[in-house]
Amino acid sequence: MNLKELSLGKSAVITKVGGEGALRQHFLDMGVIPGAEVTVVKYAPMGDPVELQIHGYELTLRLSDAEKIEIAEIQDRKNKHERITKIDSSEHPGLGEDGKYHAKTDGEELPEGTLLTFALVGNQNSGKTTLFNKLTGANQHVGNFPGVTVDRKDGPIINFPGTLVTDLPGIYSMSPYSSEELVSRNFVLSEKPKAIINIVDATNIERNLYLTMQLLEMDVPMVVALNMMDEVRGNHGSIDINRMEALLGVPVVPISAAKNEGVAELIRHAVHIAKYQEKPVKQDFCQKEDHGGAIHRAIHAVESTIEDHAEKAGLPLRFATTKLMEGDGIIAASLNLDDNEKDMIEHAIVQMENESGMDRSAAIADMRYDFIERVCEQSVVKPAESKERIRSEKIDSVLTGKWTAIPFFIIIMAITFLLTFNVIGPFLQDILASGIDMLKEAVEAWMIRAEVNQVIQGLVIDGIFEGVGSVVSFLPIVVTLFFFLSIMEDSGYIARVAFFMDKLLRRIGLSGRSIVPLLIGFGCTVPAVMSTRTLPSRRDRRMTILLTPFMSCTAKVPIYAFFVNAFFPGRGGFIMTGLYILGILVGILVAHVYKNTLFKGEAVPFVMELPNYRMPGAKNVLQLLWEKAKDFLTKAFSIIFLATIVVWFLQSFDTHLNLTADSSKSIMAVFAGVLVPFFKPLGLGDWRVVTSLISGFIAKESVVSTMEILFAGNIATALTTATAATLMVFSLLYTPCVAAVAAIKRELGMKYALCLVLWQCALAWIVAFATRLIVR
Ligand code: GDP
Ligand code: MG
Repeated sequence: MNLKELSLGKSAVITKVGGEGALRQHFLDMGVIPGAEVTVVKYAPMGDPVELQIHGYELTLRLSDAEKIEIAEIQDRKNKHERITKIDSSEHPGLGEDGKYHAKTDGEELPEGTLLTFALVGNQNSGKTTLFNKLTGANQHVGNFPGVTVDRKDGPIINFPGTLVTDLPGIYSMSPYSSEELVSRNFVLSEKPKAIINIVDATNIERNLYLTMQLLEMDVPMVVALNMMDEVRGNHGSIDINRMEALLGVPVVPISAAKNEGVAELIRHAVHIAKYQEKPVKQDFCQKEDHGGAIHRAIHAVESTIEDHAEKAGLPLRFATTKLMEGDGIIAASLNLDDNEKDMIEHAIVQMENESGMDRSAAIADMRYDFIERVCEQSVVKPAESKERIRSEKIDSVLTGKWTAIPFFIIIMAITFLLTFNVIGPFLQDILASGIDMLKEAVEAWMIRAEVNQVIQGLVIDGIFEGVGSVVSFLPIVVTLFFFLSIMEDSGYIARVAFFMDKLLRRIGLSGRSIVPLLIGFGCTVPAVMSTRTLPSRRDRRMTILLTPFMSCTAKVPIYAFFVNAFFPGRGGFIMTGLYILGILVGILVAHVYKNTLFKGEAVPFVMELPNYRMPGAKNVLQLLWEKAKDFLTKAFSIIFLATIVVWFLQSFDTHLNLTADSSKSIMAVFAGVLVPFFKPLGLGDWRVVTSLISGFIAKESVVSTMEILFAGNIATALTTATAATLMVFSLLYTPCVAAVAAIKRELGMKYALCLVLWQCALAWIVAFATRLIVR
């Protein structure tokens, strides 16, 4: 029997995990291991994926993946270990009186003035962002990890000069499954932080400790921050901290990041272990009793075989051993083993597989979970069913209910868009615009008084203020949209949306999580592209970015409205809806093309945690808004600044580089003239139309304003209904504006951005041409 066949509400114990490679490793890392008990909680409204409960948390899985997992049905869930096997306790390195850290007088203290670097590592939704903000306050630096567009934030701990905490991406394991996992692992291995702060969600302790096990093997001084203790206590659970410290061999500090409890003590411990370089005292998690000692013996055999190689490669020995045994190709390559050694290792592993009856990856995962279960048996008193869990179930009965999920999703998105684009956004936009206007007038008045050169005046007023100003005026919309999105994300709703939209998006080669950027795309491509950062896989991220421009953004609405008014009075709603649908259809078509060419291979498997709903922290949200605003402004004042200067120059000068008032003589008009033949077949071979479209590259709104100026109000004489339709279709599909292209460039690089511009223009031309043939 496999997991797909298990019916709703029933429980089973996993007997075998199929699948292969990285995906299978990911299953194992998420706790889907032989011997684990699962319960089917719910099917998504469209029947796929399925929500499961495993190791006390909620996990989603596609049916096609569930099919690979074999199970045996059981009546009641029970704990795996009937009798407690004791783990040897060991005092953690900084332990002193009453389990508190002690001020050392001897020991190898790092030299005075060494920068104490900390890596903040933990699962997604464990409260990492919250803790990071508490540790560093507002004093942080945001950038990217070198070579990859994964956010990197670092900053010194408040009141502790000479420290630097880096917030690593949320991960479940140290296997190189997602780009985030690889980034985190490489950070610890090559940047060698002085210590690790491992944040653990105490309400979901088993799954979280799985990562802790691997971090301990990395042999870096470490402190465990047990977060969400307020919830554990609130549900009458408790954790014997001293016992857990003794079992894990590192300091454990109970905290509540959201309530700022225990953070000061955490900092003291962290600084202490970093300063005295107190490494974890325990790395040996394999038990002699388990599976007749098969795993234990194999690990130690492999360990002694690779000892010198690991040292040469600069890898922590125990970490290299278990990763090698799991079949990690990257580690295997860097160890540089000769054939004889490879053979010996293979023999040891095969022996282990035969004796334990499990394959290598499963055996290692099983060893870790066994240890974790023993730790928890001895130190954790679990609450029966937490208030938060019950509350989440109630909310979910509506928000992911069979008949209610999609309607509620539409309502929530509609409210978000309404508030962003019609209420709060424009309100803030007006304030900002009048601010910019006042500044502009002041600067203009000053320049006139100071008798600044006319050309410079033109550049500053018509170029910079118009261009950069029009982009900056998007800021309120971007910030407002992110406000709502970050609330949805932090509360846990986005994970649910991904859960019930997965089936639809899979058809075009994406996974459920891509729905959010695509929806934002209907508002504005810039925040849409920025929001793809939350996607777990690089392939999905790239494909999603390249699809967002097909979602017709709000800046195109004025274009449609203008032509509908002039050529199709009374049929506005019909035509506008048609255009939106056309955009989506072309997007779907293009997605199919991408799926079979650029982005071949599997859509990422949809193995995702559904965290309990939580109240988002105000500080987190504000911090995020501030980052996004800063990000956006930096861009506006760099790339867009340059672009506007170029366009202003092309519009204001003729080919002899004289300032010209007659726009038909400007370089732009000449340039547009070159492009006119391309637009002839579309019936748009008028340089004024072409110029307007070019100006639309700066901002889609300016297509209409440019046309109004150039045609001086008699547009009807230049176009017919057929060519107006063609023009609308072309506007719908051609290159995104420069702000969007800049955002895309930041995520994907220049090559992709340029190709996208050309590709969309070509596509727009083709579809527009087809439109012309159809509409007569
Ligand atoms: P990240 O995904 O690891 O960065 O987690 P976040 O910092 O975004 O936190 C996820 C959610 O948990 C947010 O809604 C936080 O407000 C909430 N949260 C974080 N720390 C605590 C805590 O100590 N107690 C409680 N009750 N909630 C917390
Ligand atoms: Mg976060």
